[in-house]
Amino acid sequence: MATINENYLKLKAGYLFPEIARRVTTFTAANPDAPIIKLGIGDVTEPLPEACRTAMIAAVEDMGDRNRFKGYGPEQGYGWLREKIAATDFQARGCDIDADEIFISDGSKCDCGNILDIFGNDNTIAVTDPVYHVYVDTNVMAGHTGPANEDGKYEGLIYLPISAENDFTAEIPSDKVDLIYLCFPNNPTGAVATKAHLQAWVDYARQHGSIILFDAAYEAFITDPEIPHSIYEIEGARDCAIEFRSFSKNAGFTGTRCALTVVPKTLTVTASDGSTVDLHRLWNRRQSTKFNGVSYIVQRGAEAVYSPEGQAQTKALVSFYLENARIIREQLTAAGITVYGGVNAPYVWVKTPNGLSSWDFFDKLLNVCNVVGTPGSGFGAAGEGYFRISAFNSRDNVNVAMARITEKFG
Ligand SMILES: *Cc1c(COP(=O)(O)O)cnc(C)c1O
Repeated sequence: MATINENYLKLKAGYLFPEIARRVTTFTAANPDAPIIKLGIGDVTEPLPEACRTAMIAAVEDMGDRNRFKGYGPEQGYGWLREKIAATDFQARGCDIDADEIFISDGSKCDCGNILDIFGNDNTIAVTDPVYHVYVDTNVMAGHTGPANEDGKYEGLIYLPISAENDFTAEIPSDKVDLIYLCFPNNPTGAVATKAHLQAWVDYARQHGSIILFDAAYEAFITDPEIPHSIYEIEGARDCAIEFRSFSKNAGFTGTRCALTVVPKTLTVTASDGSTVDLHRLWNRRQSTKFNGVSYIVQRGAEAVYSPEGQAQTKALVSFYLENARIIREQLTAAGITVYGGVNAPYVWVKTPNGLSSWDFFDKLLNVCNVVGTPGSGFGAAGEGYFRISAFNSRDNVNVAMARITEKFG
C-alpha cells in the first residue's frame, strides 16, 4: 500500500486567503451592488514593460527559425542573462558576485522551498513573525517541524517577533540557529533593514556557522540610498548567505515567471564526516537533476530588463506602485491611522485603529468602505492588530479606496 508524506497533514489548511474570499462572498451576496476594491493582493496589476515584450516577441521568432531555434538551455540559465544580472544587480553595487554564482529559475517561491533539498533535516530554523508563509510551509512539508499549536505556530520552528516596538526587525537570537530566513524589503510589513542590522545577522551567522536565506524580491522598491539592496553589500555575506531575487515585482513577471538565486562559491558547510562541502556544487547538482531551465523566450524578456529602455521602464513601473503606496500612507495618516512601510516597499502595514483586531478591522473596512485588505494576523500571531494594504493596483482604485476611508474614518 502506498503511503503519503504525512507532514502535509500537519499543514494548517490555507486559512488566510480562503477566509478573506469567504467573507467577501458573503458580503457581496448581501450587497450585490457594493463597488468592492481589493487592496489585499500581492500580485502586480500593470502590463509588462514594452522592452520585455519586444524581446520576447523577437525570441518567439527565433524559435520559428531552424538556425536560431533553441532546445534545452543550460539548467543554470543562459550566460548572457547571468552576466547582465551579475554586472548590473551586484557588481555595480559593489557586490563581489560572479555570473556563474547565479542560477536562473522560474520563481523565488519555488527556490525558497527547493533550497531545503540541499540542507539536512536536523537544522534549527528561524523565521520572523509575521512571515511570508512559504518559508514556514515548505519546512513543515520537509518534516522539519512538529504540529501547529492554536496560534498556528509549528513546534520546532523559532519565531522571531517583529513589530513597531523593534522597528519590524528581529532581535538577533541569543542561542544558535542554523537557517535564518530574512526578507527585506519585507512582505508583509514593508520594513527595510539597515546595513548595521544586516551586518549583525551576518556576524551572527559567521560566528555560529549558520546560513542566511535572504529574500530580496522587493529590492527594486528601495528608495532610501542608505538601505542595502543585496545581502552581499554586507562584509562577510559571501560566506554565510544565499540570496533570492525575482523579476515578478520589479518587471511584472508574476505571470511570466523568472527569478534567480545566488549561491556564492565561497559558501561552505561541514559534512558529518568532517569534510567541507560547498553549497554551490550541491545546488548546481540539485538544479541539474530536478530542473530543466526557464524558457528561452522568458529569459530574453528578463534580459531586456537590463537594456537602457528596460531599466527606464521597470523604474517607471516601480515608481508607479510607490506613488500608490505614498497616497495610501498619506491618506490613512490624514485619517488618523498609524501606518508603517510603504516607502521602500509596495506594502503599507497599518496599525488597526481603536485597538481593533485584524479581522474586526477587515470586516469594518469591507462593510463600511467596501475595501478589502489583508489581516495582519494571517501572517502570524505577532501580526495581530495590524493590517496589510497593497499598493499593487490602478491609481483610480487606490484614490477611490482612500477617499472612502478618509471619509468614514477621518
Ligand atoms: C512575490 C514574492 C516573491 C516572488 O515569488 P516568485 O515566485 O518569483 O513570483 C518572493 N518572496 C516574497 C516574499 C514575495 O512576496
